[in-house]
Amino acid sequence: MNTAPYSLEELIEKNNEELYKYVSEKKKILLNTNAKGWSEETTDGCVIIGCSPTDHPQASFAHELLHAKLKIMGMKDPLILGGEGLKYPQQLERYLYNQLAHHKMHKEFISMGYMDVEFLHDDDTEENARQLERDIAELEKKYLAEKNMLQGGLQVGIPYLASTCPHDKSDKPIIMRLRDISESKILKEIDKLLEEWRESGEYSPCHTMKRFCEICGVYDIEFLPTK
Ligand SMILES: [Zn+2]
Repeated sequence: MNTAPYSLEELIEKNNEELYKYVSEKKKILLNTNAKGWSEETTDGCVIIGCSPTDHPQASFAHELLHAKLKIMGMKDPLILGGEGLKYPQQLERYLYNQLAHHKMHKEFISMGYMDVEFLHDDDTEENARQLERDIAELEKKYLAEKNMLQGGLQVGIPYLASTCPHDKSDKPIIMRLRDISESKILKEIDKLLEEWRESGEYSPCHTMKRFCEICGVYDIEFLPTK
């Protein structure tokens, strides 16, 4: 495994140089080499990219640059209103934002010459797989107890959203396991919503987030664009 800290020179390569040029012409790019994991923070004037040791630093760098590009194109964290019945509405908003960003940028990541398995950095891939495994095991228990196809809700929608964005080989079984125990109608509705989101020229996630919540049976929630 490569060891951080990386320099910008090390992180830029043929596959990501055009993207780097695009972002760096609009914002100053700074590296935070003390970060835990990879991250991106875009402010008015600069993009701060946090980096940590990984097997594929240039791909991880491209991933974070794509997050920054989406923000430059207008994808901003919305304000969440309502959702009183939810335990952690703010967490839900951040989660949905991140997953929708991944769905929007995955195609470009692959077209740059990177692979699905490089989409998330190693720690994230493991953490993601652990969370999905925990969620799916719970759902399978519920399915067995109720002896009925799961009717949806965020408990099905959230792991589905994460496992449909390809980045890891182990996701395929998770998605198949989810399909085995859930009503197909809701999953098809999410598929359709995601396809519209990926293909549209829309960068505000507000409408898609609201529709996702509605498909999952949560109606008392609004997402409002911020500046
Ligand atoms: Zn990401």
